[in-house]
Amino acid sequence: MRVYQFRHFGKDPEGSLQCFPHSFHLQSFYILHFTFYILPMYDILIIGLGCAGYTSAIYSARYKLKTFIVGQEEGGMGNGAAEVGNWPGEIEIKGPELMEKMKKHAQSFQDLVTMKVGLVKEIEKVKGGFHLHLDGGETVEGRAVILATGSVKRHLGVKGEKEFAGKGVSYCATCDAFFFRNKTVAVIGGGDSAVEGAAILGQVAKKVYLIHRRKEFRAEPFWVDKVKSRENIELVTENGLQEIRGDKKVTSIQLNAPHGGSDTLAVDGVFVEVGSDPAVELPVRLGCTLDERGFLKVGEDQQTNIPGVFGAGDLTSNSNHFAQFTTAAGEATVAANGAFNYLQGSGK
Ligand SMILES: Cc1cc2nc3c(=O)[nH]c(=O)nc-3n(C[C@H](O)[C@H](O)[C@H](O)COP(=O)(O)OP(=O)(O)OC[C@H]3O[C@@H](n4cnc5c(N)ncnc54)[C@H](O)[C@@H]3O)c2cc1C
Repeated sequence: MRVYQFRHFGKDPEGSLQCFPHSFHLQSFYILHFTFYILPMYDILIIGLGCAGYTSAIYSARYKLKTFIVGQEEGGMGNGAAEVGNWPGEIEIKGPELMEKMKKHAQSFQDLVTMKVGLVKEIEKVKGGFHLHLDGGETVEGRAVILATGSVKRHLGVKGEKEFAGKGVSYCATCDAFFFRNKTVAVIGGGDSAVEGAAILGQVAKKVYLIHRRKEFRAEPFWVDKVKSRENIELVTENGLQEIRGDKKVTSIQLNAPHGGSDTLAVDGVFVEVGSDPAVELPVRLGCTLDERGFLKVGEDQQTNIPGVFGAGDLTSNSNHFAQFTTAAGEATVAANGAFNYLQGSGK
């Protein structure tokens, strides 16, 4: 059944004249006195094209909610996972392949899900819902928001890092390993990403230094065993990076303390894998509160302090801060359910 919503925005300051015929659907147009004011009205606006975003879209669509999902990078952080061995139902699958499957699943709800690649510059609270302001000037309107913006890779802040970014300095071992075939590289960090990255690089590079400031690694034992079993991976523990040097490209690094008699190592590439921070800029500007560690604070139903705004995945305070595909998907499931209940309660 076609449902038409008519609203008078007459003197409402939010009602500047806009027209988006490409994403127009009949559930959602407004008439502004003498002129058509056409703005797509979705039930749910999802920000993020990663595991949490795709899962939210799948659940929203199954609730028959008109869903708009937008993200800057298709697949998100999942693209960096070389081998995923803990996604139920897949004994082993590559991260990009898993993300592609999730995307296709979300896209299969053609009538309900509109997907777009783009940057959300701002979320604005308006009467009856929210506006997403996208780069390029487009505005999309919806009644509830699910934030699934994940996290942002941390930088080291050492001398030479910025200068040689893209010239030997990388933040994704899985994505860039291929460019370092038979070369010597350093991986900085001691968590899952660093140890997994070193293991992947060990398969293509001639030599890998895995540099970690502590004695023990925090990564999954599966990956720690892998790096320890490879002869071309050398562990440089209780040490750190002081400077990245080069000419047009990276040629060497300087360590905090000598290793094997010298504090300089000749390398062709440096992989910075020192963790990530939750991508909370948008929710903070909207007025959402964070937990003491800087993650988006959400309740049991994944709702933030702002009614109608939910969060799921790596950016939130839930799941004991354990950032995984399964936890992102679980939170997204709850967020979509929470948003559905919210919309029902608000007269949907
Ligand atoms: C190297 C590596 C290996 C991993 N291996 C595993 C593993 O084996 N098993 C496992 O369970 N987990 C693994 N993980 C963790 C897993 O990848 C993440 O927990 C999961 O992908 C998080 O999903 P997410 O949807 O919360 O965030 P993300 O995947 O980071 O998605 C965030 C999305 O939001 C978008 N976005 C952010 N800001 C904006 C904005 N302003 N406008 C528009 N879009 C925006 C991004 O472009 C992206 O599309 C690994 C992670 C890494 C880095």
